[in-house]
Amino acid sequence: MHEYTIQFFYAVAAVCFILALKWLSAVPTARRGVITGILGMLLAVVGTLLKPELLERGFGAYQWILVAFVVGTVIGVPMALMPMTAVPQRTALSHAFGALAAALVGAAHFFLESPNLSKFTMGALGLEVLLGFLTFTASLMAFGKLQELLPQRPIVFKFQNIVNLSILSAAVLIAIFLIFDPGHKVLFLVMSALALTFGVLLIIPIGGADMPTVISLLNSYAGLAAAAMGFVLDNKLLIIAGSLDGSSGLILSIIMCKAMNRSFTNVLFGGFGQLQVATGQVEKRNVRSASPEEAAELLATATSVMVIPGYGMAVAQAQHKVRELFDQLTKRGITVRFAIHPVAGRMPGHMNVLLAEADIPYDKLMEMDDANPEMPQVDVALVIGANDVTNPAARHDKNSPIYGMPIIDTDKARTVMVIKRSMNPGFAGIENELYFMPQALMLFGDAKSFVGEIVKSLASPS
Ligand code: NDP
Repeated sequence: MHEYTIQFFYAVAAVCFILALKWLSAVPTARRGVITGILGMLLAVVGTLLKPELLERGFGAYQWILVAFVVGTVIGVPMALMPMTAVPQRTALSHAFGALAAALVGAAHFFLESPNLSKFTMGALGLEVLLGFLTFTASLMAFGKLQELLPQRPIVFKFQNIVNLSILSAAVLIAIFLIFDPGHKVLFLVMSALALTFGVLLIIPIGGADMPTVISLLNSYAGLAAAAMGFVLDNKLLIIAGSLDGSSGLILSIIMCKAMNRSFTNVLFGGFGQLQVATGQVEKRNVRSASPEEAAELLATATSVMVIPGYGMAVAQAQHKVRELFDQLTKRGITVRFAIHPVAGRMPGHMNVLLAEADIPYDKLMEMDDANPEMPQVDVALVIGANDVTNPAARHDKNSPIYGMPIIDTDKARTVMVIKRSMNPGFAGIENELYFMPQALMLFGDAKSFVGEIVKSLASPS
C-alpha cells in the first residue's frame, strides 16, 4: 500500500483520538467517545500492518506480529472482564504493558542500530527506555498495592528521597552519556536496570489512598514513553497518541490532586497514610442505628434529599435499587439530588458511570463544589457506601491522613443516614467522626438490600 494512504489512515486515526478524548469528557457523549477511540486504534493498527516494508516481506514479517497478537489477546480479554471495582488495578496493568512495550521496542532498536544512532534518536530512545522501564515496574507495584497483593501502607526508610534521587540521577546521566557515545551496550543495560529499580522505589513510600493520582501520573509517563518512541521510529501517529495520553494523564493527576488538596510532591514524597498508627487512641463510642422502615419514614417526610454515593454502592452494585428509590421519592414530590465527590469510589468518574448505567438523570448529579453550599438546606443526606469523602476530620484534624482533602459537607444536613455494613473504616483506614454526630443514623446492611428494603417500605401502602 502506498505510503500516502497509510499517512491518511494515521491522520484519520489521530482525529479519532482527539474526538474520543473530547467526547469522553462528558457522560452523554462518553459511549460515542469509546467507539471513536476504538475506531482510531483499529485504523492505526491496520495502517501499520499495511506498510510497504511489511507487505514486501510477506508472511515472514507477520508471523511474530501474529504471536504478539495472540499473547496480547490471551492477556487482554480476561483483563477487560475484570469487575468495575477493579478498574484502577486494571488501568495500572495496562500502563505496565504499554510502558514495557515502549521500553522493549527502544531496547531492540538500540541493540540493532548501536552505535549508528544520531544524537537526536539516541536522546529520544534514552527517554523512551527510561520512562518505559520505570513506568513498567512502578505500575506493577501500583497494581500489587491496589489488588492488596502488597501492603498498602507506605514503606519508608532513612534517606529514602536521597537514595531514590541518586538512582534516577545516575540513570539520567547514563542516558545523556549515551547520546554522545551510543556504543556502550553495558551502560545501556545498567541504565535500564536503574530505571526498573527506580520504578519500584518510587511507589513503595506511597500509600494506597494516593494510588489513583499516581496511576494517572504513570499514565502520563507511559504516554510520554510512547511519544518518544514515535520520534525514534519516525512514526507521527505514535507521537500524537503518546502526547495526548501524556497530557491527559497529567491533567487528570492535577484535577485529582486538587480534589484531595494535595500537591504532586506531597503525593510522591509525602508517605501518605502512615500517620494513622500514631493516632490510634481507640475509644468505644455509641452510634444510633435505624431500620429500613424507620429510614423510609424519615425520607418520606423530607422535602429535599441529597444522596452521597461511594465505593460501597459500587461493591454492592446498588445503583439500580438507588434508581428505584429515586423514582419512589420523586413520585412523592421530594427533591432528590446526588452529590458526587471527585474521588468517591475507586476511580475518577466511578459514581457517574454507575448512576448513568441506572439511568439517573444527569441533571440530578451535582459536583462537590455545587452541592456543598446546598447541604445546610438538605433535610436528609443519605450516604450510600461512602466513608472517607464524608469525614469531617478532613477539615480540622491535622493528624488525620485525609486532612486537607475537600469533603462533601454531609454533616451540615439536618439529618444524616449512612448505609454501610459495619463500623469498619473506608479506604484511608480511619474512623469517621460523622457517624457519632447527634444528627447521624447508621443503617447497617448491604447497600443493595438495604435500599431495596427502603423502596419496599415506601412502595407498600401504610
Ligand atoms: P471508602 O472506601 O472511604 O468507604 C467505602 C465504604 O463502603 C466502607 O466504609 C464500607 O464500609 C462500605 N461498603 C463496602 N461494601 C459495602 C456494601 N456492600 N454495602 C454497603 N456498604 C459497603 O469510599 P469513599 O467512596 O467514601 O472514598 C473513596 C476513597 O478511596 C478515598 O479515600 C479516595 O482517596 C480513595 N480512592 C479513590 C479513588 C478514585 O479515583 N475515586 C481511587 C482509589 C482510592 P463497611 O465495610 O462497613 O460496609
